[in-house]
Amino acid sequence: MIHTRIKELLNSTDFGKTVIVKGWIKTFRNNQFLAINDGSCLGNIQVVIDYENTDERTLKRLTTGAAVSVEGVLIESLGKGQRVEVKASQISILGDSDPEKFPLQPKKHSLEFLREIAHLRFRTNTFNAVFKVRNALSFAVHRFFNERGFVYIHTPIITGSDAEGAGEMFKVTTLDLDNPPRNDDGSINFKEDFFGKSTNLTVSGQLEGELAALAFGNIYTFGPTFRAENSNTTRHLAEFWMIEPEMAFYELKDNMDLAEELLKHVIRYALDTCSEELEFLKNRLQEEEKSKPQTERSELDLLAKLNFCLDNDFERLTYTEAIDILRRSKPNQKKQFKYLIEEWGADLQSEHERYLVEKHFKKPVILTDYPADIKAFYMRMNEPDEQGRKTVRAMDILFPGIGEIVGGSQREERYDLLVNRMKEMHIPIEDMNWFLDTRQFGSVPHSGFGLGFERLVLFVTGMTNIRDVIPFPRTPNNAEF
Ligand code: ATP
Ligand code: MN
Repeated sequence: MIHTRIKELLNSTDFGKTVIVKGWIKTFRNNQFLAINDGSCLGNIQVVIDYENTDERTLKRLTTGAAVSVEGVLIESLGKGQRVEVKASQISILGDSDPEKFPLQPKKHSLEFLREIAHLRFRTNTFNAVFKVRNALSFAVHRFFNERGFVYIHTPIITGSDAEGAGEMFKVTTLDLDNPPRNDDGSINFKEDFFGKSTNLTVSGQLEGELAALAFGNIYTFGPTFRAENSNTTRHLAEFWMIEPEMAFYELKDNMDLAEELLKHVIRYALDTCSEELEFLKNRLQEEEKSKPQTERSELDLLAKLNFCLDNDFERLTYTEAIDILRRSKPNQKKQFKYLIEEWGADLQSEHERYLVEKHFKKPVILTDYPADIKAFYMRMNEPDEQGRKTVRAMDILFPGIGEIVGGSQREERYDLLVNRMKEMHIPIEDMNWFLDTRQFGSVPHSGFGLGFERLVLFVTGMTNIRDVIPFPRTPNNAEF
């Protein structure tokens, strides 16, 4: 007889039926009541042991963390706290867990401590909930695009182009680092490397995604990306997952509409399918915020925040309008920003983004038309404004508590303008012929964006550190497990 998952048992009314439960012991009290969890849901099933007829050796081995198989009858529970329980007739221990050594005790552990034992934190309620939500969001992303006829494209993880993010990439090599082959000028001879050239881990699938979009129309990528930036923040990982749709014939507004629709779709899916997990995470956040001063606590609880996000249009404005708001803002006037907004053209820091989203508009914001100087080479150039200022058709989506969650743009489809800009920005044009070909053979207006998946999971779960929403985080000085 196959075992039944606990999620199913907790909802069952088949009283009197013999069932098999397999899982890990959370607690064992009074030599009689086992709480068993199998990961299928947050809830545990209570197993009642007939301790008089269970030998002492077995009882001793029923410790927190041990794996067991229990056969018994499903009954209506007499006790408080659970609706059903299993009256055990047979119990066997599948895997012992030494209580002296097992680090997860039935008490609250700090998230910092759990990060150190990330190989075991899956077994806690918090991480069960977080990774169930992560799973749901991931599925919802694929469903969203699939329903709309987008083609899922797998772009390369090892890339031979270093056009984007120069200096922020991880090198991929099989050369002997102690004794690399060298050119006459002393530089390393990558012709002798595995690929016959220098290669890196990708920072984005966009450029390859564009190639596919100009054949399929609408495509998306969803894969790992790598950035060797030394950003030790609660929002940056060295290895993170990104969703990058790219659409032919889409202009900036279509791009914004799609991004807003995607975000709302996946948040709604999480609310619909993870109510138990989100309820748990809502309470967890409330608990965590109790130790903070009133002014730093969230105004809305997690579920209210998510629903608010669904019920309201994102605020859309240009960079220039945002700069005006920021320049006149209290923290700027009172010199409370670390970086004061003085000139048009300054890059926005996360303190500015968060002021706009959390204090000024109090909802998600889409900023468009940034100064060309602070954005990537492939973004479409606008006509200069009356003052001759150059902007590009960029759009960043800013979320409360997160800052930038999406970065996107309408792409520059005009060959001459693109080449000029690449020259200005010292992009190696010779290596980019494959990319420029799209602008030579049937170029069309097109747009796309990158959604950082972990930042989305952060927002939906209400966790505060990005290291807690990916199973095994990679950050500067940390690549454990
Ligand atoms: P930031 O300014 O926050 O570092 P970015 O401008 O470098 O972000 P993009 O290059 O536009 O970001 O990447 C697209 C999206 O990928 C971002 O909007 C964000 O959601 C996510 N992202 C970027 N860098 C990281 C990172 N190091 N860790 C996790 N997510 C990231
Ligand atoms: Mn960055």
